[in-house]
Amino acid sequence: MECSYRSSEGDTCQFANSELSYEEYQGGTWCPFHLPASAKATWSEQQSGDLHKRIFDLIAQARPEGRADLRGVVIPAHITFAQYNETSRMLPPIDFSRATFLGQATFNRTIFGKSEFVSTIFCDEVHFLGAEFYADANFDGAEFRKEAHFERMKFRESANFKRIHAVCNATFAGTTFSKRASFRHSQFDNKISFSQATFMDEADFSPVVCHNRADFIATRFRGDVEFQDSIFHDEADFALGPLRGIESDGTPIGSFRRANFSRVMFRGLAIFTDRVFLDSTRFRDAVFSYAPQFHNGKLHPHTDFHAKFLDRRSQEAVSAYRWLKSAMGQNRARGEEALFYAFEQEALRAQPETPRSVKLFSWSYSIISRYGSSLMRPLFCLFATTALFMVVYMAIALASPNASFRDVGFFALEQVIRPFSLWSRGYDVSGSDWVAKNLSILRVLSLLQGLLSLSFVALFLLALRWQFKRE
Ligand SMILES: [Zn+2]
Repeated sequence: MECSYRSSEGDTCQFANSELSYEEYQGGTWCPFHLPASAKATWSEQQSGDLHKRIFDLIAQARPEGRADLRGVVIPAHITFAQYNETSRMLPPIDFSRATFLGQATFNRTIFGKSEFVSTIFCDEVHFLGAEFYADANFDGAEFRKEAHFERMKFRESANFKRIHAVCNATFAGTTFSKRASFRHSQFDNKISFSQATFMDEADFSPVVCHNRADFIATRFRGDVEFQDSIFHDEADFALGPLRGIESDGTPIGSFRRANFSRVMFRGLAIFTDRVFLDSTRFRDAVFSYAPQFHNGKLHPHTDFHAKFLDRRSQEAVSAYRWLKSAMGQNRARGEEALFYAFEQEALRAQPETPRSVKLFSWSYSIISRYGSSLMRPLFCLFATTALFMVVYMAIALASPNASFRDVGFFALEQVIRPFSLWSRGYDVSGSDWVAKNLSILRVLSLLQGLLSLSFVALFLLALRWQFKRE
C-alpha cells in the first residue's frame, strides 16, 4: 500500500515500509500518521492513544545522530511530551515540520535536541513552559491557533521564529535566548509578551506586526535589537519595570545596546520608561501616534529622532516632550532640543487650563521663529513689516505733491535703523513737507514699526544664540 500524503514541498510518506493499517478516505489511501484531520475527528480515545504510542515508538527508535521523522503527521487529541524532561531522557533530534497538532500539545520542561517545527500547525493550546532546547530550534512559519505558552524556557542555541502567526495570546515571558533569535515577518493577532525575557545575542524583529498589546517590560536585550518596519497597532511597552542592578560588564541592567526602530509605526503608546540606551538608537522615519514616554531613562548622543510625532494635543504629550527636550539638551543635540521644545509648547497650548495670554505669546513665538529654531523666519518678518509700512507711508505721502518715492523709502528704513527717532525733540522735519504735515499719525505708526522691528531682531539673535550656543 502507498500513502497518498504529499507535502507542499512534494515530500511523500516516510512511513511506506512500516506495517501499518491503511485507510481509504476521500479517494485516497492514508497511513494512520498522515490520515487527514477531518477523518480523525471521529476517532475514539483508543485510536488516538494508539497513534500517540506509535509516535513515541518512533521517537524511541530514533538514533541520537539521526532524527525522529514526524513530518506531516496529523496528531489527534491532547498529547504530552513532558516525559522527556531530563538530559538522560531528552528528545532525540526531531522533525515535526508541516505536522498538525489537533489537540493541546504539552512540552512542559521537555528537553529538546535539534528540533524542526517548520510550518507546523498547532490547532489548540501549546505549552512549552520551562522547556529547554540544547540545539537549534526552528519554528519557521509555524501557526498557533490558540494560546501559545513559551514561558521560562531556555534556547541554548539559535531560535528561529520567522514568519510565525499567533492568532491568540502568545507569551515568551521569562525565556532566555542564548544565541541569535529571529522573529522576522511574524504576526501576532493578539497580545504578545516578552516580559522578563533575556536576549543574550541579537534579537531580530524586523519586521513584526502586533495587532494587540506588545509587552517588553523588563526584557533584557544584551545584543543588538532590530525592529525596523514593524507595526504596533496597540501599546508597545519597553519599560524597564522591576529590573535593578548592574550586568556583569558593569552596565545598568536592562540597557539597550544598538537599537533600530527605523520606520516603525507606533499606533499605540510607545513606552521606554527608565531605559538606558548605551549605543546608537535609530527612530528614523518612525511614526509615533502618541507622544512616546522615555521618562527617567538615558538616551545615547547618537539617537536619531527624524521621526513623525503626531500627538501635539494630549496632556501626556506636554511632559513627554518636555522630558525629551531636556534629554536632547543634555546630549547637546540642539536641533532635536528645539524640536521637542516646539512640540511641548504646542501641546501646552492645546491644554484648556493654559491661560489665553500664554497661548497667544506661545502662538506668536511659534509663527515668528518656530520657538527659536528658525533663523530665517524673524528676518523674513522684519523684511515684510518694513515693506508693509513703506506701502502705508506711501499712501500718506501721496496726499503731498512734493514727496518722492525715494524719500518715503528712506523714511521707512530709518524707522528700522533708528527706531523712535521721530519722537526725539531734535528731529528735523524741515526737509520733508509730508512728514511735517502728518507728524502725529506718523509718530504712532513709526512707534509700532519700531517695536515690531526690534522684536524681530531680538528673536533673530535669540535663535542665533540657541543654535550656536556652547556651554
Ligand atoms: Zn503516510
